[in-house]
Formats: sequence, structure tokens, C-alpha cells
Amino acid sequence: MPKIISQSIVGYKVKADEKPVEEKKQSAEIVQMHESVARPEMLLGSTYKVKTPLSDHALYMTINDIVLNPGTEHELRRPFEIFINSKNMDHFQWVVALTRVISAVFRKGGDCTFLAEELKAVFDPKGGYFKPGGKFMPSLVAEIGDAIESHLKMIGLLEDPGLDEHQQALVNEKRKEYESLQQQGNATGYNGDYPEGAQMCNKCMTKAAVLMDGCMTCLSCGDSKCG
Ligand SMILES: [Zn+2]
Repeated sequence: MPKIISQSIVGYKVKADEKPVEEKKQSAEIVQMHESVARPEMLLGSTYKVKTPLSDHALYMTINDIVLNPGTEHELRRPFEIFINSKNMDHFQWVVALTRVISAVFRKGGDCTFLAEELKAVFDPKGGYFKPGGKFMPSLVAEIGDAIESHLKMIGLLEDPGLDEHQQALVNEKRKEYESLQQQGNATGYNGDYPEGAQMCNKCMTKAAVLMDGCMTCLSCGDSKCG
């Protein structure tokens, strides 16, 4: 039977969530990333060179990491700040703004992997470009996002699904098949990573999809579309 409240409510108290004392003590010792974590004198840095066809000068991106709870089972390496340097001053003010915002997100703590996804989705209205190896970059901002993503994978904050053994074997097999077909017909050259005239694969954004047995097959990620 539900309780009937017959008197007017004059006050209330929320029942406290009782945690065992031991657990509380333990969690208090583990340092989590938050705004007031002081910057140590020395941080580990990784510098990424970003060379685009948009500019003669490369961009150098440095991400410094902080190691929380070093030497314990809760050891965690997290990005702490980002700097971007270039001789090219065209993009100076928005690059500075971007790095400050990204650094602030890093220092806030919590999940920062969304940054890579957000930046990678930025399209330059003037059009993107292909990187060596055939990967499509929709903008310079996307390239910065891509570098952040590889960094987060390197320090283990993002999983790198990659291709498993089976998928990789399939891709290699398809590639061999295509190469031997090309040698027989001697039609188009196979220079660089992927055949000349390969189409853009919508799954991995690489110019690596070729027509094989009536199917567009990607020689980079193995994606295959028949029809
Ligand atoms: Zn692909």
C-alpha cells in the first residue's frame, strides 16, 4: 500500500549513499585529471609533422602528456597540452585559438577522444586534398584531428581496431589478384601504394577501391561492394 501524506511537507532530507570507509579512502588517493592538477616541471612530448599541399611550410604539432599515479596500478597517461608551430602565419590566430581550446579540454579531464572525431569531420569549402598513400583529408583542421587521433591511439586512450589477421590476409590476396590481372592486361600502372585510377573508398577515405569481378573492392581496408 502506498503511504498517504496527510500533513504538509515542511522539509526533506536525501538519504546519504553510504559507502564503506575503505573504498572512499582509496578513491581519494587516486589522482584523476581535473582543472587544478598542477603542471609538473617536465612533461613527455610527442611532435607530429603535418605537411599539406596547402602550404609550403609544414606544421609541427606537439602534444605533451601527463602521467597520473605513476608507478601504481592506476597509472594513466593523458594528454595535457598542445602546441602548434609553423613558419606559415596565414592561420596563426585560429590555430592559437584552437590549441588553447584543445588544451583546456585536455586539462578538464574526462573523455577527450571526441575531439579527434569532431575535428576530423571539418570540411574545407575550398576542398580537401590527398595525402601520400591516398588518404583523403577534408581540411587542415581534419589533419590536426587525425594527428590527435594517432596520438590518443599511441598512448592507449583510443583503441586501434586496425585490420585483424583474417582481414589483412584477404586484403593482401585481393591485392595480389589485382596486380596479376594488371600484369596480364598491362593496362594501368601500379605505382605508389594503390593502383592509378583507384576510386575513393567511402569507408576508409582512401583512393584504393578497384573493380574486381564486378565488385568495387578496397585494397586498403578490404571493404567490398557488389552491384
Ligand atoms: Zn577502404
